[in-house]
Amino acid sequence: MKKSDILTTYKEYILNTYSRTEGIFVKGKGMTLIDIDGKKYLDFFPGWGVNNLGHCHPKVMAAVRDQISKLIHIPNNFYHPNQAKLAKEIIRNTFPGKVFFCNSGAEGCEAAIKFARAHGKKNNPEIITMQNSFHGRTLGALAATGQQKYRKGFDPLPGFKIIPFNDIKAVKEAVTDETIAIMLELIQGEGGINIASQEYVQELRALCDEKKLLLIFDEVQTGMGRTGEIFAFKHYGVTPDLMVLAKALGGGLPIGALVVKKDISYIFTPGMHASTFGGSPLITKASLAAFKAIHAEKMLPNAKAMGKYLMTGLTRLKEKFSCIKDIRGVGLMVGVELTFEGKKVFEKCFENGLIINCTQEKVLRLMPALNVTKKQVDRALYILEKSLKTVTG
Ligand code: PLP
Repeated sequence: MKKSDILTTYKEYILNTYSRTEGIFVKGKGMTLIDIDGKKYLDFFPGWGVNNLGHCHPKVMAAVRDQISKLIHIPNNFYHPNQAKLAKEIIRNTFPGKVFFCNSGAEGCEAAIKFARAHGKKNNPEIITMQNSFHGRTLGALAATGQQKYRKGFDPLPGFKIIPFNDIKAVKEAVTDETIAIMLELIQGEGGINIASQEYVQELRALCDEKKLLLIFDEVQTGMGRTGEIFAFKHYGVTPDLMVLAKALGGGLPIGALVVKKDISYIFTPGMHASTFGGSPLITKASLAAFKAIHAEKMLPNAKAMGKYLMTGLTRLKEKFSCIKDIRGVGLMVGVELTFEGKKVFEKCFENGLIINCTQEKVLRLMPALNVTKKQVDRALYILEKSLKTVTG
């Protein structure tokens, strides 16, 4: 198919739900994406947080190749060793508990919401969530999401009380007899890389213990090593009751999961929740390979070191460009807040062969693969500087 044919076919046959950049990609390897004309791009936002191992990691490819010839799918009324192994691996990397498998972040959040309702047993159950949060586009996940631009046009979206982030007073004031849980991202991704403070998270845990509420961490974006720890809650030393995973969990393939603390895991019983594709032999094999690669290839210390290196480089840029208002980040989850809308910077970077993201209009989001090298960080900083220079004239 020719480039122009692809674009017109999209226009004619695909629902118009995304604003797309004209990049038609046909190949990916590590930090590099290659487009239909053979142009190479350095990908500092791989798969919107899906490709934490880079594109087409050899261990994931080998796992998929091996499994695809044996068994791709079996329904969840049977058993498969890969699902058992992956559940064990997730628990080894999180906290004592049990896992429910699904296919995406939104679906994982839906599972958490249903679990919290089943656990809370209230007539009008309410979950407290945060302004600028993002939990997905299905109705329950959207109702939890504290951003008007995504909610607009889809009311009613009941069941949630949305309050300011990082504000413990606001949480205490919001709790009522009908509150069943508090749900948050430890670092808001779509919200513009907003980092929950240590005291806030500790106080949330104490409040949930006192009021018998469930504490739910959405680690869809912060998980699988993104922040330099395998999961972001490890930075805080605070364990949630429920945790949602997705994005990078499958090494590039679609999977989501809800992790539930052991002592409340009895709440879900057969028939209460399900997902046809959840935890299939193929995807769980890929996910096991992803965990293995992250640990064996020491990607967590690399993410920490490269995160620091990137932040240092960005701080130097901030000194040169007054349009950089703030730099925030943990590990390789980094935001650069500008004083103006970042779309043009994003576009210039793309033209110059660097893929980044722009969220909340003004925040450039950089989330390279965990195995990014110094040389690649230097190249990204060089392209970002060049693009900022062009845009600011
Ligand atoms: N939760 C968080 C924190 C996310 O960042 C996202 C997606 O960006 C989601 C949930 C929804 O995930 P999905 O798009 O896989 O449904």
